[in-house]
Amino acid sequence: MHLYFMLILIALFVLAVSYFAKAAVLEFEQRADSDVMRVKSAYLLIIQHKERLVEEKARLQDEADRIFEMYELTREVTATFDENEAFRAFKNHINRRMVLDDCQLIGNIADIMDDLTVFKGYKFFPLRAKKRIIGEVAYKGLATADEETFSILAHQLALALRRIQLYKEVENMAITDGLTRMHTRRYLSERFEEEFNRAKLRKSPLSILMIDVDHFKKVNDQYGHLTGDVILREIARLISLQIREIDIAGRYGGEEFCVILPETDKPGALVVAERIRLAVNAQKIKAYDTALAASVSIGVSTLPDDAGKMDELLDKSDWALYRAKKLGRDRVVGFSVYGDDVAS
Ligand code: GH3
Ligand code: MG
Ligand code: MG
Repeated sequence: MHLYFMLILIALFVLAVSYFAKAAVLEFEQRADSDVMRVKSAYLLIIQHKERLVEEKARLQDEADRIFEMYELTREVTATFDENEAFRAFKNHINRRMVLDDCQLIGNIADIMDDLTVFKGYKFFPLRAKKRIIGEVAYKGLATADEETFSILAHQLALALRRIQLYKEVENMAITDGLTRMHTRRYLSERFEEEFNRAKLRKSPLSILMIDVDHFKKVNDQYGHLTGDVILREIARLISLQIREIDIAGRYGGEEFCVILPETDKPGALVVAERIRLAVNAQKIKAYDTALAASVSIGVSTLPDDAGKMDELLDKSDWALYRAKKLGRDRVVGFSVYGDDVAS
């Protein structure tokens, strides 16, 4: 009986141990399963993250390629101050990167309106600088996939062309006088040096006319500066009409003009000067509600007769102008080494 009881106890003990062992194994398995699940989902997250990183890397690479392409193109099209050269650089760049049948720069779309058949099948990309259209790129045979890149690059071309235009405007402002549209004194000085050296080299004559408006202060005092400005502009126009293509005329100072006459000796220069004087004399200048008469005095000096250096030649024309004023104005005086006035 005692043994029987012992056996039951042992059996119960074994049952209990196996129950707890099972429960422990089950719990361990469940914990292991949930660990595996956690690791699995973390792994999935990492994979997803990696995919996102790969996509991001490709996007950044694309972006970098595009920026680099734009940098390359900008560098190429801004290496010049000539519109056609800039466009050639743009076209070369495009041809290197995409397939295209043709690509042309059109300054003004109105110019091709008469003959649009030539541009049959072309697309037009307007080149905008701020709100203004400064030209068009006509192109043909471009793959749709390349349209976006093409338009980004064409936009860079528009910026480059605007930059060239601005540069030219500034350059023009520096060489053109705003009031008279004549050359500025700075430009005149540069050209004088060139022409002077050329004349010396070729041993050919060169003359200078220094022209000053007579009693101009009185005109301003009597009629006002605006009227004075109109007269200056008209005198500048009259001077320009009396000279040859190769002569260089400019505004030297306030109401003073200077004309460089290459290949012209003293008698020839005196003739031109007299022609200018008479042209001014003959013209009643309309300014607002008045018509005014004006006159000019002109001093003439010549290389090699009067001087061998640039400054001296200018001084001599000034001296002759001073003499013309002294002698009563409205006249031409040529410098003379003998002190006699060569007047016409
Ligand atoms: P002269 O016959 O001796 O040359 O007499 P003038 O009065 O012309 O000479 P002066 O040099 O004393 O005066 C020149 C005047 O030209 C003075 C100045 O106010 C005027 N002037 C200079 N530049 C301009 C300009 O751009 N517009 C106008 N309206 N007047 C100018
Ligand atoms: Mg003066
Ligand atoms: Mg004067």
